[in-house]
Amino acid sequence: MCIRRLLHPSSLHWAWRTTVLKGTWRRQQGTHCWKRSGGSTYRAVIFDMGGVLIPSPGTVAAGWEVQNHIPSGTILKALTKDGENGPWMRFMRGEMTTEGFLEEFERLCSEIAKTSVPVDSFFSLLTSEQVAKQFPVMTQAISQIRAKGLQTAVLSNNFCLSNGKSFLPLDRKQFDVVVESCLEGVCKPDPGIYQLCLERLGLQPSESIFLDDLGSNLKAAASLGIHTIKVEDPETAVKELESLLGFPLHVGVPNTHPVRKSMEIPKDALEKYLKDLLGTGATGPLELLQFDHGQSNPTYFIRLADHQLVLRKKPPGALLPSAHAIEREFRIMKALGNAGVPVPTVLDLCEDSSIIGTPFYLMEYCPGIIYKDPSLPGLEPSWRQAVYTAMNQVLCKIHSVDLQAVGLDNYGKQGDYFPRQVRTWTKQYRAAETSTIPAMERLIQWLPLHLPQQQRTTVVHGDFRLDNLLFHPEKAEVLAVLDWELSTLGDPFADVAYSCLAHYLPSSFPMLRGFRDQDVTKLGIPTAEEYFRMYCLNMGIPPIENWNFYMAFSFFRVAAILQGVYKRSLTGQASSAMAKESGKLTWFMSDLAWDFAVKEGFHVFKEMPATKPLIRSLHTRAGPQSFLNPTGVRSYSSAAEASYEAKGGLIISPEGLSPRVRELYDRLRHFMEQHVYPVEPELQRHQTSVERWSPSPLIEDLKEKAKAEGLWNLFLPLETDPEKKYGAGLTNLEYAHLCEVMGMSLYASEVFNCSAPDTGNMELLVRYGTEEQKACWLVPLLEGKIRSCFAMTEPQVASSDASNIEASITEEGGSYVLNGHKWWISGILDPRCKLCVFMGKTDPQGPRHRQQSILLVPMDTPGIKVIRPLTVYGLDDAPGGHGEVRFEHVHVPKENIVLGPGHGFEIAQGRLGPGRIHHCMRLIGYSERALALMKTRVKSRVAFGKPLVEHGTILADIAQSRVDIDQARLLVLKAAHLMDVAGNKAAALEIAMIKMVAPSMAYRVIDRAIQAFGAAGLSSDYPLAHFFAWARALRFADGPDEVHQQTVAKIELKTPARLQESAAPRL
Ligand SMILES: Cc1cc2nc3c(=O)[nH]c(=O)nc-3n(C[C@H](O)[C@H](O)[C@H](O)COP(=O)(O)OP(=O)(O)OC[C@H]3O[C@@H](n4cnc5c(N)ncnc54)[C@H](O)[C@@H]3O)c2cc1C
Repeated sequence: MCIRRLLHPSSLHWAWRTTVLKGTWRRQQGTHCWKRSGGSTYRAVIFDMGGVLIPSPGTVAAGWEVQNHIPSGTILKALTKDGENGPWMRFMRGEMTTEGFLEEFERLCSEIAKTSVPVDSFFSLLTSEQVAKQFPVMTQAISQIRAKGLQTAVLSNNFCLSNGKSFLPLDRKQFDVVVESCLEGVCKPDPGIYQLCLERLGLQPSESIFLDDLGSNLKAAASLGIHTIKVEDPETAVKELESLLGFPLHVGVPNTHPVRKSMEIPKDALEKYLKDLLGTGATGPLELLQFDHGQSNPTYFIRLADHQLVLRKKPPGALLPSAHAIEREFRIMKALGNAGVPVPTVLDLCEDSSIIGTPFYLMEYCPGIIYKDPSLPGLEPSWRQAVYTAMNQVLCKIHSVDLQAVGLDNYGKQGDYFPRQVRTWTKQYRAAETSTIPAMERLIQWLPLHLPQQQRTTVVHGDFRLDNLLFHPEKAEVLAVLDWELSTLGDPFADVAYSCLAHYLPSSFPMLRGFRDQDVTKLGIPTAEEYFRMYCLNMGIPPIENWNFYMAFSFFRVAAILQGVYKRSLTGQASSAMAKESGKLTWFMSDLAWDFAVKEGFHVFKEMPATKPLIRSLHTRAGPQSFLNPTGVRSYSSAAEASYEAKGGLIISPEGLSPRVRELYDRLRHFMEQHVYPVEPELQRHQTSVERWSPSPLIEDLKEKAKAEGLWNLFLPLETDPEKKYGAGLTNLEYAHLCEVMGMSLYASEVFNCSAPDTGNMELLVRYGTEEQKACWLVPLLEGKIRSCFAMTEPQVASSDASNIEASITEEGGSYVLNGHKWWISGILDPRCKLCVFMGKTDPQGPRHRQQSILLVPMDTPGIKVIRPLTVYGLDDAPGGHGEVRFEHVHVPKENIVLGPGHGFEIAQGRLGPGRIHHCMRLIGYSERALALMKTRVKSRVAFGKPLVEHGTILADIAQSRVDIDQARLLVLKAAHLMDVAGNKAAALEIAMIKMVAPSMAYRVIDRAIQAFGAAGLSSDYPLAHFFAWARALRFADGPDEVHQQTVAKIELKTPARLQESAAPRL
């Protein structure tokens, strides 16, 4: 199916598949049996239904699961669950009603998927007319088999529908015998049902051939002596059947039918015209067939004497001037044919409507193969590779045509292709819009901001896909490129990207088949990237960097088209089957498009030059050697250390950041101003509404936008992620500046996937997780698809001392069993929270810091009981909340332990490294925002005859706040810098100092701002009260102040004084 067919659901294909028959056959007079040269005699062909005559439930399920975000394989697992005694098999034996089956099946699927599975919707799709449609190749084969006098049978494992009728969406007249499991009470592979079928056919097993897609069914048939064919795809199976039977099953001109009454054209006038055109040799009866599709531009096959032609005409009636422009098709094919591009040879354009009623053109009929399934089933990997290489080469040929030389330089507008295309398709989409699709909205904003610089203008095919190419039947050579209806002049990369759509679509995708669920390397098909690079190499051009833009646009365009189909179907202009599906498909396509926009966002920062050395002179450098000298004295050196050049110095203001990070910083600020601050009131409303325990859709939308801008996962420090595999590769110091900006809004850090406790957990997984643990948890966390929590604190013990915790982790069989009572577990109530990083004791008798272990606990594990959400000054921080929770006999697989038993304490320390100072960085942001709000407020309010700002105490408060903030910021930056250059351990003092300082500093600054605001400061009209609550809570949440004081004091006492007492004179 091509894009034009989506625009005009009824369209055409005029090429046909040549069948090369290798077997010989002879009709045995009167006996109705067929003998191949090999000697076997067949009298009947028996067909299974699903997977042979119509699509299999498994294939339908795969596509449905993708579209409905159901874990892949759920339906298949449920279908095979419990074998013969499972609900599917019982349903097929007619032992269950449809309602009973659906109920049980839904429960089973939901259990497997661990989420609710709307089985009804799958079942309606499976049984819909649109899906349950017989493969035309099979219809053709059946009629050929019967024409030769052989019997046909369908032997189906099927079921009854709720109306009591059996589900058999086939024309029963095609079969001599129909055997249905739900009516017989017996199912394949039970031998009884095969015997029943043979009995009704009146044949011996060896006289029949059985086709099925399931190995177990074939095995049972073979053991009875029936000859079998495994059906991987219908086309290949028919070929195999042909060679067994020894007569052709593909005949005539494929995809044609007798001309429909309403589409008839005056034969005599046409014949006369053709004879004039082709010369006197063209005599004889004129055979006219119509291609199956083609109500848009009706297309006909013509045989006249030894000429085989294709006629394509405009439809009758009044037409829009630009629509059905068959003249353009004729013009481009003629020009390209002259330039050596393989296209059907066009013969004549007849603009005289008096001949057949409308203008038309003629071309030579071109026999060859059209590969309708882009995964090329039944071919060798090397052949597949050759097919895709040929496709790539022919595209290069199209794009290399000299427009002027072939007279196509005015075939379309030159330049500005994408701005025009984005406008056009946005307009088309808006005209067909039926509801708001978030991904489309984001794309409509994103695409115009990321338009590529057009490098070249060439012919653009506009619908360049494998199934628009006609191949040589015996070699991988493109004989003709078809379907030029959407061609124009434009940016050639549009075609390259469009021809890679199939790489990203599932094989069962309705209308546009793909192969994303298959291993392309195994298939021999080049990956999209390889295909794109092959194109650049063939064209002799360097690869472009914004490839993802082109992919995003291609999917956006298809989504807009699908929306048009959907709208037409709602108004009755397209079939009802399309109506149901295309609406959903628009969502699916636009999500795919958005994924590419997001990838482009990542690519933005991945492609930026690496961090440059310092450009500011104001810095302090420190390194392990200079930091802790051999005598154990902490010292700071202002001298440059070559090895730390890359990490730079202490950059105290954003102006000193490297250009790359400065640019990121500026974009972040811009994003905050444009997208975050304006929606704070809305987010705050959500947080106090009854829906607050569900994530705000607005936040999800902002996350997508931030991802696409590359403002994502900025927190992961370069030392943890040196290859920048997971994050933006910022140093802690660089991130400190950015994190401060995020701290200015309570909602921002989640928008950029930089919020606690996920940041700490992600870093834990990056540092200590196995590859399996990373794949399972880190990837979805990095993608912002799930959230997580960290469970350490317990109500019954002083948890500021982590060695006190009592939760137990014991071994039982192959798993660990957790028992414990935790509280203040931030984020655990969030429905997106899928992972709990749990700390407990595996060895209570072991050395104090080796007793603890950390386990990754899936949140849906039975035994996790959230008792209640706790509040901070009455705020519940929904949707994540802070939960009190019991873990009762929670069984966790052994491989979920992090780093092995006894490493819990060590990991918790590591986890709290950078994560600890993130809060401090944010607290600087809170404080800056509070001070900014305070300044504005006191300038505008008057008390006792003058603005508040002129009152001395207010001035003093402002001054004190500025001093407090700057002092704390310097300490945050210093701690971050030391973590970068000397490591987290060496920075322990600075980490403890800033944790001691930042929350109470912020608490004081915010308190002053609240005071200056008057009562309004306590309300939720301003973020001050919320900031205040958080600053207060952070005097515990990251460990109580006193614990940090203890650390500072201990280190200080170990550090020799800078001035030796003995050296000072006595007073
Ligand atoms: C908003 C919020 C979110 C939180 N999120 C999480 C989370 O996600 N996961 C999690 O596991 N925990 C979380 N916590 C819990 C937090 O980590 C603990 O509250 C903290 O570690 C202190 O433990 P505790 O409450 O048991 O206090 P205790 O250990 O009982 O301490 C009580 C007080 O004793 C004093 N004290 C303790 N040690 C010393 C000392 N050495 N010297 C002098 N005085 C001392 C301090 O004044 C301290 O405040 C959160 C807490 C809050 C408020």
